[in-house]
Amino acid sequence: MTVKIDYEKCCWKDGACTSCSCKGACKGCVEACPTGALERKKMIEVDDDKCIDCGACVAACEHDAICLC
Ligand code: SF4
Ligand code: SF4
Repeated sequence: MTVKIDYEKCCWKDGACTSCSCKGACKGCVEACPTGALERKKMIEVDDDKCIDCGACVAACEHDAICLC
């Protein structure tokens, strides 16, 4: 399995939160990840080499925008 992000549903677009203007301060997938595999850049990026398939990011996402599939 790999982490896949649905960039249509994801609220982080073009380096900013389009949901609440939190600038990434809200607790989402990036903060939930225990290995630092996710990063807020222009879009959310996944480092597959760091991912351990734990599913914490999926549970943390309130927008149903990330899956382990
Ligand atoms: S599955 Fe776990 S390790 Fe992989 S990106 Fe999500 S939170 Fe991080
Ligand atoms: S928690 Fe969900 S909506 Fe928020 S940045 Fe991560 S994938 Fe996108």
